[in-house]
Amino acid sequence: MQTDLSQASGWYAVLPEPVPAKHLTGDQTADWVVVGAGITGLAAARRLAELEPEARIVLLETDRVGFGASGRNSGFVIDAPHYTPDFDVDYNRRLMRLFRAGRAQLADLVGRHGIACQWSEQGHVNAVAGAKFVPELEAVCRSLDAVGDDYERLDAAALEALLGTTFYHAAIRLPRTVLLNPAALCRGLGETLPANVEVYEESPVRRVAGGATVTVDCAEGSVSARGVLLTTNVFAQQLGFLRGRLFPILLYASLSRPLDDRQQAAMTGAPSWGITPEVLMGSTIRRTPSNRMMLRSVVRNSRDFRVGDRLAERLRETHRRLLAKRFPALAGLDMEHTWGGVVCMTRNYASVFGRLEPGVFASLGYNGVGLPRGTVSGALLAEHALGGESSLMADALALAGPSRLPPEPFLGLGLKAWLAWTRLRIGAEN
Ligand SMILES: Cc1cc2nc3c(=O)[nH]c(=O)nc-3n(C[C@H](O)[C@H](O)[C@H](O)COP(=O)(O)OP(=O)(O)OC[C@H]3O[C@@H](n4cnc5c(N)ncnc54)[C@H](O)[C@@H]3O)c2cc1C
Repeated sequence: MQTDLSQASGWYAVLPEPVPAKHLTGDQTADWVVVGAGITGLAAARRLAELEPEARIVLLETDRVGFGASGRNSGFVIDAPHYTPDFDVDYNRRLMRLFRAGRAQLADLVGRHGIACQWSEQGHVNAVAGAKFVPELEAVCRSLDAVGDDYERLDAAALEALLGTTFYHAAIRLPRTVLLNPAALCRGLGETLPANVEVYEESPVRRVAGGATVTVDCAEGSVSARGVLLTTNVFAQQLGFLRGRLFPILLYASLSRPLDDRQQAAMTGAPSWGITPEVLMGSTIRRTPSNRMMLRSVVRNSRDFRVGDRLAERLRETHRRLLAKRFPALAGLDMEHTWGGVVCMTRNYASVFGRLEPGVFASLGYNGVGLPRGTVSGALLAEHALGGESSLMADALALAGPSRLPPEPFLGLGLKAWLAWTRLRIGAEN
């Protein structure tokens, strides 16, 4: 199979075309197999290789490195537990430790290997457009206070000065957030893996059989190994694991052409920035260092991230409209790339981390905030598979354990109703 590069994210599309993929062929043996070359799988394979430098590690990917959610996201590396005000202090402390460790590991790798991914330690704002949602922002402040995390409150005037729009009413600024090109990050991580990791792309895994020796079957070959690490996001279910525990949410995003001179002149505020919506399912927006605008919005319950021509046109129109609402001078800005990406959700916001059955381990289900969490969790999963223990691993284990979902058709109907209600509720926030 060959990856359909027309379905790449904008972040991926602006990079040079990748070299042809190496496919897994024939029946092989290895020490460890990692399935899925997103941010988690890349971290897991790297850590296994560091801990066992003599071992043969095989990393298998359906498409290309960074072609999945890890290269399709909005590119915010957020290390504050900003989206979990309903959770207790112990939960948020553990989450914060994991996020911070993940961010530090990424910073180290990007710096050490010189990965060109527009890494920018500039912070970001988490904003509301209407006074109606200020109480939700206040709840986030209380939960950040409780764990001793720092943030800055911004009013409408400060937001106008920073972003060049009067659209937002209030926000908090999280100072340590990193903004980057996520596909470039994943590509760079893939290209700098230790020599004892072999990456096979366009090699979808069809079957995983656990046991004292595990067997992993692909379309054109198979691997036997001591163990397998599943870092496949929501697609673990298609391999028969974690059924009834995970559900997909599909998000769509667009990346514009670079702003022309007139548009740049009309944009006041800082030359690059990022906004996340405080209200669930609002729009995430970035002005990138390359002077492009990115907007992420629109939500569905599906795991099929492909976007056909008609849907792409509708999405571009929606994204243009949402952008022009905030920045009238950008009305008509051409959206050059539009794509979909799948977030792996769980009912109780708990992730999956640890051993599923003999020889089979998994880390996935980060509920939409996966860059720092996937990085640290992938590395910790490798340590866990090798019998290691640490306080960070205790955090990862404590936050794991997704609750059971209702069966179909109740799940699908419930999600539809929930998404419709959320759209209604956020109203003018979008
Ligand atoms: C539009 C969007 C915006 C987001 N914004 C942010 C953000 O700004 N910041 C943030 O931290 N998080 C964000 N997220 C969430 C984040 O992208 C994910 O949590 C994270 O990428 C998950 O990483 P992963 O490695 O677990 O999964 P993935 O990146 O999905 O990697 C899993 C890989 O496994 C492969 N795979 C699946 N099945 C098989 C198989 N059978 N055989 C071989 N390979 C297989 C897939 O092809 C994929 O490449 C966003 C997500 C989306 C979709």
